[in-house]
Amino acid sequence: MAEDLFRYADDLGPAKIVHIYEPSTALKAILVVDNLACGPSIGGVRMAPDVSVEECFRLARAMTLKNAAAGLAHGGGKSVIFGDPRMPPAEKENLIRAFACAIRDESGYIPGPDMGTDEACMAWVQDEIGRSVGLPRELGGIPLDEIGATGFGLRSAAEVALGAAGSDIDGARVVVQGFGSVGLHAARFLAAKGALLVGASDSRGAIADPAGLDVEELAELKATGASLTDSAAGQTLDRDAVVDIECEIWIPAARPDVIRADNVDRLRTKLIVQGANIPITEEAEAILHRKGVVSVPDFIANAGGVICAAVEYGGGTQAAAFQVIDEKIRANTESVLRRSRDEAITPRQAALAMARDRVRRAMELRRWS
Ligand code: NAD
Repeated sequence: MAEDLFRYADDLGPAKIVHIYEPSTALKAILVVDNLACGPSIGGVRMAPDVSVEECFRLARAMTLKNAAAGLAHGGGKSVIFGDPRMPPAEKENLIRAFACAIRDESGYIPGPDMGTDEACMAWVQDEIGRSVGLPRELGGIPLDEIGATGFGLRSAAEVALGAAGSDIDGARVVVQGFGSVGLHAARFLAAKGALLVGASDSRGAIADPAGLDVEELAELKATGASLTDSAAGQTLDRDAVVDIECEIWIPAARPDVIRADNVDRLRTKLIVQGANIPITEEAEAILHRKGVVSVPDFIANAGGVICAAVEYGGGTQAAAFQVIDEKIRANTESVLRRSRDEAITPRQAALAMARDRVRRAMELRRWS
């Protein structure tokens, strides 16, 4: 039925949903271009066996709001390719190249890396259609995970939020859940401004030391493939005990829904800066808000990666990327926290309202949105 085909349609989009099938490679993919009012959409290409239109639409919408909240001249889109990302490399290259050719004329969509795709995949896309972000350095890319673009932005958000509470990073105690690209770099950038890492966890466990852990030592250990719990430093704890460690800044940088109504009261922190996507349930965010714990929402705090990608797309340098990330994340954190205070709403509600306002204003300036 026609109604079913348009079941996601609302006041923002989606502008286009494209189903792609290429018989000779058995390529099956979906592209959702959600909203183009702010500019051509940027969004990742996800490869997994069990993706769906629904997932693709929700991710595309998240990109519309994230890119608008970040103040980028880009709309939101996303694509998914059905397949096992660990398939033989030649087969994967063939599939990605076929996908790139299939979206050649969809100039409103600029693909980037996501789960199951990487810099090499973006290089193949670029080679086919001359349009992608997240490229290898050799092709003018800015390797955002290697330089820690997202972790860097988390520090900017933390600095503004602590400043609003009359405090600063120097001497602040930090706890990081998930010591991967985001968490490790956040710890590193915060430590460079005098913060003390007092707790950290990875998928295998947690470590804590109230006197401070050595971030560089832990980074070297992680680079060997070991777990934080293999370190001789500090005290070893259960993985989820990281929630209980007292600090001024608590950074979730691992999985969704790690803080829920049933464990939110265990947190002993003043500030949460969300590195992971949706790490805190809506109910838990409301509880934190009532208790006066400031929580900078994911799509404000962790936008460093997509801002970096937009700078890369515009031909900017790594130094320019750091500058733009800092500038935008500071300004956005400030306005979200102000709106949250002024309107007595949670920072997430304030961020969503800000992002929707920006998209709507951009839509008003267009003949077709
Ligand atoms: P990553 O794979 O590099 O690191 C994830 C880390 O979390 C690993 O150290 C892993 O051991 C640990 N981990 C997994 N499950 C855990 C658990 N239950 N408890 C504690 N630690 C656990 O991933 P990443 O790129 O750092 O991304 C982390 C999160 O941030 C994801 O939610 C991702 O979607 C989000 N994110 C990443 C970026 C980026 O630029 N990479 C940007 C925005 C959002």
